[in-house]
Amino acid sequence: MDNIQKALRAMTPGDKIALCEGADFWQTRAMEKYEIPAVFMCDGPHGLRKQDTENPDMLGVNKSAPATCFPAAVTLAGSWDEALVGQVGAAIGEEAAAMGVALVLGPGANIKRDPLCGRNFEYFSEDPRLAGKLAAAHIRGLQENGTCASLKHFAANNREKQRFNSDSVVDERSLREIYLSPFETAVKEGGPATVMCAYNKINGVHCSDSRGLLTDILRGEWGFGGLVLTDWGAMNDRVAGFRAGCDLNMPGGSDYMFRESLAALRSGALSESDLDACARRVLEFIARSRKAASGEPRFEAHDALARRAASEGAVLLQNRGALPLKPGQKVALIGEMARTPRYQGAGSSHINPTRVTSALDAMPWAAFAPGCTESGETTPELLSEAEAAARAADAAVVFAGLPARCESEGFDREDMAMPDGQTRLIEAVAAANPNTIVVLSCGGAVECPWASRVNAVLYLGLPGQAGGAAAADLLYGRVNPSGKLAETWPLEYSDCPTSGYYASGRDCEYREGIYVGYRYYDKAGVVPRWAFGHGLSYTRFAYSGLRVEGLGVSFTLTNTGSVPGAEVAQLYVAAPQDGLHRPLKELRGFKKVFLRPGESASLRFELTERDFAVWQEGWRVPAGEYELLVGGGSDSLPLRAAIHIEGETPVVPAWQPGSWYEAPRDAPSKSGWEAMLGRSHAELAPKKGEYTMDNTVLEMKERSFVMRCMFMGVERTIAKGFGGRADYEDPEFRMLMASSAGSPLRTMQINGAMKGGLFRGLLDMANGRFLRGIARMIRG
Ligand code: BGC
Repeated sequence: MDNIQKALRAMTPGDKIALCEGADFWQTRAMEKYEIPAVFMCDGPHGLRKQDTENPDMLGVNKSAPATCFPAAVTLAGSWDEALVGQVGAAIGEEAAAMGVALVLGPGANIKRDPLCGRNFEYFSEDPRLAGKLAAAHIRGLQENGTCASLKHFAANNREKQRFNSDSVVDERSLREIYLSPFETAVKEGGPATVMCAYNKINGVHCSDSRGLLTDILRGEWGFGGLVLTDWGAMNDRVAGFRAGCDLNMPGGSDYMFRESLAALRSGALSESDLDACARRVLEFIARSRKAASGEPRFEAHDALARRAASEGAVLLQNRGALPLKPGQKVALIGEMARTPRYQGAGSSHINPTRVTSALDAMPWAAFAPGCTESGETTPELLSEAEAAARAADAAVVFAGLPARCESEGFDREDMAMPDGQTRLIEAVAAANPNTIVVLSCGGAVECPWASRVNAVLYLGLPGQAGGAAAADLLYGRVNPSGKLAETWPLEYSDCPTSGYYASGRDCEYREGIYVGYRYYDKAGVVPRWAFGHGLSYTRFAYSGLRVEGLGVSFTLTNTGSVPGAEVAQLYVAAPQDGLHRPLKELRGFKKVFLRPGESASLRFELTERDFAVWQEGWRVPAGEYELLVGGGSDSLPLRAAIHIEGETPVVPAWQPGSWYEAPRDAPSKSGWEAMLGRSHAELAPKKGEYTMDNTVLEMKERSFVMRCMFMGVERTIAKGFGGRADYEDPEFRMLMASSAGSPLRTMQINGAMKGGLFRGLLDMANGRFLRGIARMIRG
């Protein structure tokens, strides 16, 4: 502390500003004259993406050191197991120590608002309680041995399209109850060393510039005492960022932001105390961070943990008796994914695994037919070979899901369908063998129109490097499936309330309000394919003896089947429906318990007032008759008890009676949403003459010759890495284009480590001020 005070007193304002930006892609700035060392960070969340400083990138394209690729958050969440998620966090922390990494960028606590978000695989759930608890557990594990975590992407960052500068337009109640809530839990119960602010705006203000978000809520209300850093290139206005408490600008390199900050200090627009507060937090972070590598990575042990985590997070969605497979049965593995597994997502979380075990590696005795290509296309020959293999076997296991081209950071999925070739393959195999089992590898819900024609469906999510071994464990019953869905699987995309407007527009209109995931399907009476919290086992569980004493809820869970297994007991609170509009029920507690056949466990949950609260200019508990529901899935809650809660009577807003929010069905209208929001919302269409550093080449290219040239230049440069072809079918190419031509000029400048003057000049030209632009470029 003394040293920090001493350094702060000695530093010039310029040095403080410089300290508050990264030295390069992965390091803070060392300052020898003040004896300040650099600290090294790298991406997570489900493993380490440690790159050398020569060839860094934020999209997982260039090389990184081998590290254990654990299951992505989509699979970890399926375990509903805080202890397991903590163990994975701790293993990643240990690998970080061995590689000299001080800070791992993860976990992500964003809500899965719509199945099409390209980055859903990196997030835990549609439910804030589940997402918050698991993020907290991940952070506690990761930080156990001194590694620092970065909780991301704060906040309301729920779409990849236009991810760098879109505006998340969301009402205060939904923001608090749904989108901020997992961050609040993760901050309060996980204690992350750092929080990463997101790229987007919330209600017109960039997260990096928002004092309301970063200081009033995060620090003031939730007591966060750590460092806020930006997502890579997310800093919008450096001066506003300092005022907001946005401490560290990553990856740094904004010469014009540096100059603007100095000028603001001189003019008094930025106070020295705001700058000092940020610099102090950077120094405190550096002081607590690891500087040197220690220990050896235990890759063998971590592969075994990755395998266990994958098997505990997988969800048995359907089983009409084909599973578990019996020893001695003739089994055919079908589908290229059995040989070439899809086990992690593309983008900044992409890990270079220490090894990869496919299902075929794990079940070498099985027959195999590819049935389709890696990207999901099939041919009559591939189909008939697969049918023959299925016919000759006692059980046919089709490995399918989403190929990498369909989901990635940087862009959203176009629809919820699996590739047509895979659907045809499943249909053909199901017709050839009644014991057809489909094993799905994908980062989120897909449409399964074939479900009624197959016997069993096992969902792996994106299970990490040991996913094939985990699949074999589950198929043969060496591990009893115990995962539960952390997101609803609708029958089809059009059932999602957001389907009509999620992808349209530059801004994200959060019209559905608090009705996200099961909160919508329940209240609208829309039956999904598989409900939130659903997941089968090879044994059976019975719930009995619900007792409520005060806010304590207890009951008995018994394994009534014939094999050992684990169950996730879930507790939901159902609010009265006669006042302020509320979901029919909300998850408030969950516990995973392992039981031998015939064994029982007594479980107890302690509820708090907040479990009954709504946000209406503060947390308020509406008085009334509530119900407590307990069981093994949101659609299977055999125990119920009434509970009377003392509280207040929140105001029912004038717009509520008769509105969509009282009786949601299909999509909410724009005008109904605006009434709920309390204002109208018109997108700011960027206009020539008014473009700013926040606009992207993509946005400006239609109306600006310079930006068109720039677009072509970017496209050509990126295409060079793809054999000279601008291949928009290739996910990596699309991601690179979206993250360069689709990023604001300020972000391009930072990530390209080029002079700000150059971009300012180009911006002038795009705005039609050609000569001024040229002059600025020459000066810059
Ligand atoms: C991603 C972050 C990531 C960062 C650094 C960004 O594009 O949104 O999640 O940590 O890059 O690679």
